[in-house]
Amino acid sequence: MQPIQFIDLKAQQKNIRQKLDIAIQKVLDHGIYIMGPEVKELEAKLSAFCGAKHTISCSNGTDAIAFALMCKNIKAGDHVLVPSFTFAATAEVLAWFDAIPVFVDVDLKTFNMCPNHLEATIIDAKKKGQRLTGIITVDLFGQPVDYEAINKIAQHHDLWIIDDAAQGFGGSLKGQKVGTLAELTTTSFFPAKPLGCYGDGGAIFTDNDEYAALMRSIRVHGQGSDKYDNVRIGMNGRLDTIQAAILLEKLAIFAEELKKRDQIAQRYSNALKDCIQTPHLIDGAFSAWAQYTLVIPNRDEVAQSLKEVGVPTFVYYPMPLNLQTAYKHYPAGPNGTPNAEKLAKQVLSLPMHPYLDEKTQDYIIEQTRTILLKKAA
Ligand SMILES: *Cc1c(COP(=O)(O)O)cnc(C)c1O
Repeated sequence: MQPIQFIDLKAQQKNIRQKLDIAIQKVLDHGIYIMGPEVKELEAKLSAFCGAKHTISCSNGTDAIAFALMCKNIKAGDHVLVPSFTFAATAEVLAWFDAIPVFVDVDLKTFNMCPNHLEATIIDAKKKGQRLTGIITVDLFGQPVDYEAINKIAQHHDLWIIDDAAQGFGGSLKGQKVGTLAELTTTSFFPAKPLGCYGDGGAIFTDNDEYAALMRSIRVHGQGSDKYDNVRIGMNGRLDTIQAAILLEKLAIFAEELKKRDQIAQRYSNALKDCIQTPHLIDGAFSAWAQYTLVIPNRDEVAQSLKEVGVPTFVYYPMPLNLQTAYKHYPAGPNGTPNAEKLAKQVLSLPMHPYLDEKTQDYIIEQTRTILLKKAA
């Protein structure tokens, strides 16, 4: 048997290599490396894919959050609610603007921001006189957040929502695609994300014409209608034409890949649910399955045993963001973030990519079952 890959980008490339070669060659031939025709084509196709009116491609998923925050006119001292169990970028960007992340605990079953703790954190923050302006939700591991619940809370407290869908693009909630579930949605095309390029890339999705125009200006140093009259402070935040060309080929097979990820997740869950906590999807959620994540009390032992039989696993994330060195001085909601702390000790992600054949899936399932049952005995 071939060594099992946690994420198999080589198998995907083999599948579409000829098309990629042609697409890259085309860019080399026309030579428009910055904002070439492929960038526009990709943006149109991404909009068609998710149903958002505008797609603004950009440099990466971290900058994408900055674009969205600039639409919201983020200012020093603004307090923004973020989940405690996420990748650093979600809160990092707030600090660029001297804004303050306020950490909200996550739900033990979905791993996403807990609506109850969100509400409690808002009430607590208001009591403390913190100026709350918005919420950044994260569709962790590919599953959309419970937007029905979060939207209600946001509306009630007059807060905006930015959806950090770096892991969630491709997912949907009750038939509504990620990209349209919040006023502004950001994503990442980092190679290991469900839709990845061969370098850095990202995008912002919105239905708002003003925001779209603003972000197109910010993307090129705050350019106005005259290229050399910059009308605002912006950044160099563009997606390379070559990456857009690569993404066009990957987007063409993305829907099929999402289906395969979902089938694999279902097979894993059906085979493992009697011996461990498998991922829980909320009503109507379709996950992009960026990760397939189990909760295992003796996680480190199980990970080691799986490694010994050739099953690679990963821990996303071994530490809640609000406990990390650069973030621990920022506020968290009442009673802290015990769920995130528990998950950090117990989560384990199994190999997940659309090119896992059934034989390999069965091997992973069989080994995981054997080890879980043995370790529990
Ligand atoms: C990967 C990721 C990002 C950052 O994306 P980059 O393209 O690497 O900058 C932001 N938020 C979350 C939740 C992520 O997983």
